[in-house]
Amino acid sequence: MGILTNNVVRRVLLYGGAAALIWGGARMNARLSEQAARPEPSTGPTVVAGRLDEHPLHKALLSAGFGRGEAEAAATALARRVDARRLSPLDRFRAERDASGRLLHLTFIHGQDRVIATPGPDGKLRSVLRHDPLLAAQRRASGMVKGSLWVSMESAGVPAEVIVLFAETFQWTVDFLTEPRDGDRFAAVWTERGAPGRRVLSRTFEAGVYEGRMTGERTALLFDGDYFDAQSESLQRMFLRAPLKFARVSSGFSKGRFHPVLRINRPHHGTDYAASRGTPVSTVADGVVVAVRRDRGFGNYVKIKHDKTYTSLYGHLSRFGNGIRQGVHVKQGRVIGYVGSTGLATGPHLHFQIEKNGRWADFLKLDLPFARSVPRARRAAFAAESGRLLPELRRLARSEDAAAGS
Ligand SMILES: [Zn+2]
Repeated sequence: MGILTNNVVRRVLLYGGAAALIWGGARMNARLSEQAARPEPSTGPTVVAGRLDEHPLHKALLSAGFGRGEAEAAATALARRVDARRLSPLDRFRAERDASGRLLHLTFIHGQDRVIATPGPDGKLRSVLRHDPLLAAQRRASGMVKGSLWVSMESAGVPAEVIVLFAETFQWTVDFLTEPRDGDRFAAVWTERGAPGRRVLSRTFEAGVYEGRMTGERTALLFDGDYFDAQSESLQRMFLRAPLKFARVSSGFSKGRFHPVLRINRPHHGTDYAASRGTPVSTVADGVVVAVRRDRGFGNYVKIKHDKTYTSLYGHLSRFGNGIRQGVHVKQGRVIGYVGSTGLATGPHLHFQIEKNGRWADFLKLDLPFARSVPRARRAAFAAESGRLLPELRRLARSEDAAAGS
């Protein structure tokens, strides 16, 4: 059951990109649009990050979209600096690529050691080991929404990175495009790690609460590497809300519609997302690639089997994602292709359809299943942790003079 794995390979984007998705153009403030002034997502550098969990490093890198040769070279370069037998499931990596997909650097974080690998002029990876006596500090901030959520959180002292993590974590339970209202309250707790006197190396979003007029109270608590709500249900759903981030629905699921190219009425068993050519398309859930083909109707398409029940299909792609071949395992959020207009399409868009038990289903109306809840054996520990943090978060969120603190 690959889908239920707790490995959170973050689909990252530059922060501005994620925020643009979350708050939409209208809600974006000037400072954010500076970082995110790229409607074409393929023009900026991209960051992928992940955790080893139980996988060897090269497997974890493959899941994060590395090519086979590249993943092996990176694992070899890192093995020269850290003892492979000492690796922990909590070890993390972070890779940055330029617009053409070239690897700029790969950082591997093992406890207080960081290995930084960068390609030399000959293309071979060079690696250095840094040991940081890291300091960890827990920070918290809270406030009230006034105007845009982004601006409200930023003025309460929440760093951009944490705002993005906050929104990503709540993305299945709060629609940040439409649901925030003035007067809603929020609180966030995060941990910052860094060497003394140097810039912060990492921030982990630990817990948050959002209390809104439209949403009611929503909570998130990091526990054993995943986020759970106060009822100990996982906040990560089996499916992403949409297979791409910069899009609008241009045609929904229907039993009969006028086909713009064929000029006849016929059923549309999927959802069309209008998006500019080249927009990355992500798999909505973990799964195995079962087809990578060219078809007269769907054009270049990818089909992914998620489990016994669900299969998804992505059509009219301009090209396929790096390493996407039949039989490859993909993690939720992995880029499997790019928006195009191959096949029977009037313009660039993604045709997306989902099959439930062998029948096409309307994705926008599917009741998306929870990924998992806290395992029975960990319930008591979770209750203790949430019993400690949540009351404090609620107090913070409701306090009249809600402001940044540390
Ligand atoms: Zn379609």
